[in-house]
Amino acid sequence: MNPAINEGKDRLSEFRKGIRVVSSVVSREGGGFLVHRPFPTGALRDFDPFLLLDEMGPVNYRPGEAVGAPDHPHRGFETVTYMLEGAMEHRDSAGHAGKLRPGDVQWMTAGSGVVHSELPEEEFLRKGGRAHGFQLWVNLPRKDKMIRPRYQEIPREGIPVATSPDGKTVVRVIAGESLGKKAVIDTRIPITYLHVRMEAGGVLDQSLPGGSRVFAYVVKGEGDFGSEQTRAVEHQMVIFEHRDGKVTVSVPEGGTGCEFLLIAGTPLEEPIARYGPFVMNTEEEIHEAIDDYRNGRMGMIRPS
Ligand code: MN
Repeated sequence: MNPAINEGKDRLSEFRKGIRVVSSVVSREGGGFLVHRPFPTGALRDFDPFLLLDEMGPVNYRPGEAVGAPDHPHRGFETVTYMLEGAMEHRDSAGHAGKLRPGDVQWMTAGSGVVHSELPEEEFLRKGGRAHGFQLWVNLPRKDKMIRPRYQEIPREGIPVATSPDGKTVVRVIAGESLGKKAVIDTRIPITYLHVRMEAGGVLDQSLPGGSRVFAYVVKGEGDFGSEQTRAVEHQMVIFEHRDGKVTVSVPEGGTGCEFLLIAGTPLEEPIARYGPFVMNTEEEIHEAIDDYRNGRMGMIRPS
């Protein structure tokens, strides 16, 4: 056998087992709220088809202190907001307004352009309290970047919940499917977004669409990821290097359990031109986006 091919195979099997753990960077966004951000960072620019993951907080606000992100545009991708604690209020240039409370999901397809605000809900702002949530940016394929904006808002009760036969693993199925339950949100490309709570001794064998890129993000506690059981803790992102459509997560016996997001998507493998809230395929399209925004062609939020 050709030794070069042999060597290639050994490398491939290493790669297939591979798990990479990436720590978040702490940053301030919008009006100055704290985020833990595994990407984009200097070390990881994106994770095709995902562009950003922000863990908002957790942070305890005193009365009147909570901050959010006032009016700003988006074009060319989707923002997915998932609240765990606290309450947010959003408004947009299409006259759409809503409140997000713990467990609610907002899947916004910005498409050709939206101007929106994401602010603390009035009562939450007045009283203060703990805020914690996630925002994920999902890229759109070139052919869908300029589609009409769309909102899918699913209240907590509308998110399917699956439980393993031993009762140790509970999965909220935001996108895709897990343990026989299917999400209600539809996505432009195959996306899996699971919020998993696992007690000590729990195991999850999750199948994903073949070819998916997969990562986990630890929200609380610690878990063992992949067949080599690589340990990861709070605020860490776990990258599964292989793309064979199967991942395993377990939680050590006697521990405190683990809460994590498991997120997967089919990579677009298209060029990315990115400037703040606009993500397109070419520099020229970015200039168009800036121009359209400055000239009011993405609309504006009308006072209520
Ligand atoms: Mn936004």
